[in-house]
Amino acid sequence: MHELSVCQSLIDQVEQIALDHGSKCVASVSLKVGPLSGVEPTLLQHAYPYASAGTVAAESKLVIELAPLRVSCEVCGCETEAQLNWLVCGACGDCHTKLVSGDEMTLMRVELITLKDMNNV
Ligand SMILES: [Zn+2]
Repeated sequence: MHELSVCQSLIDQVEQIALDHGSKCVASVSLKVGPLSGVEPTLLQHAYPYASAGTVAAESKLVIELAPLRVSCEVCGCETEAQLNWLVCGACGDCHTKLVSGDEMTLMRVELITLKDMNNV
């Protein structure tokens, strides 16, 4: 399962971040996923509990934000939002476009619970 290995490498990153901040508990992980990233958000959500089990992220919540698909036009220079499988310029309709965003999977934010937070409670 592709999404499980994606999740596992995500958890690796999250664990490293938690370690760097001296935290033993992760509250939530926010991810930005583009439609061309090759990752299916629903499957990712499904795989997440398996990948995070037994790690610092075991109790955390995965938040997936969908990234827009954007292209820049080589003809008129506009940057517009495009449809999947239809990467034409939204301004002039030309198909000579370059993908600006939409194929990324970016770790946006990791919310950590640190000992200091716990003392505040
Ligand atoms: Zn154009």
